[in-house]
Amino acid sequence: MSEDIVLLNSDGLRVDGRALDELRPIKIEAGVLGNADGSAYVEWGANKVLAAVYGPKEAQPKYLQDTAKAIVQVNYNMAAFSGDERVRPGPNRRATEISKITAEALENVILTNQFPRASIDVYIEVLEADAGTRCAGLTAASVAIADAGIPMIGMVAACAAGKIDGHIALDLGKKEDNFGQADMPLGYVPGTGEIVLLQMDGHMTMVEFRKAMDMAISACEQIHELQIGALRRRYAVNYADMDDGGTEQ
Ligand code: ADP
Repeated sequence: MSEDIVLLNSDGLRVDGRALDELRPIKIEAGVLGNADGSAYVEWGANKVLAAVYGPKEAQPKYLQDTAKAIVQVNYNMAAFSGDERVRPGPNRRATEISKITAEALENVILTNQFPRASIDVYIEVLEADAGTRCAGLTAASVAIADAGIPMIGMVAACAAGKIDGHIALDLGKKEDNFGQADMPLGYVPGTGEIVLLQMDGHMTMVEFRKAMDMAISACEQIHELQIGALRRRYAVNYADMDDGGTEQ
């Protein structure tokens, strides 16, 4: 949070040339891992994130079981080679926090009451990090859960909005996150209009908060389309490749 670093140029463009309301380029692929029940890979600017889902399966050890619903366990991990500085491998406070808030966001959409005593295990591996990995991870996890065929009210799409050089901006990059004035990750379910994750680092006025929220929600709607696109590509049936030309019902 320094005043010396300029994050917006005289044309109102950001350090990577984006407009204030512009997302970084995002690519989503579903079903990328053979051994997981569901998986997804997200490239989001310079972030590279993999999500793998196992379950629903019997929760072990047994004391974890909930007789009324499945538990959702998330493990967020930044690979040792994912940042500029070497990240110390293994769990830390930040990874524990991100795992917890991601699980809580997903519990809002997964129909856990259909799977008593079960566990749904979600692994998020950040291969390359450039700010916004919790949003990329939650976005990837939602696609992986859908890929696993686990019923949900709707997928969660996530995106942050923040404040740089006194202006509200969408999807902060690393430099903007480090030297900006605020960062607000948001998880949204376009199907229901529900917000399932909201965090804030820094300060905004109420008017700025409203603007940031509107910007992040509209970005989540765009990201949701990309999530659906990834699933459609994964499950598209190529009728031309079928023996009977796709005529059999
Ligand atoms: P998010 O990735 O969700 O924005 P943070 O705001 O905590 O989460 O982190 C911002 C960025 O700072 C990360 O995406 C990553 O690029 C970098 N970062 C965070 N923790 C570490 C770490 N231990 N080592 C190296 N880089 C890190």
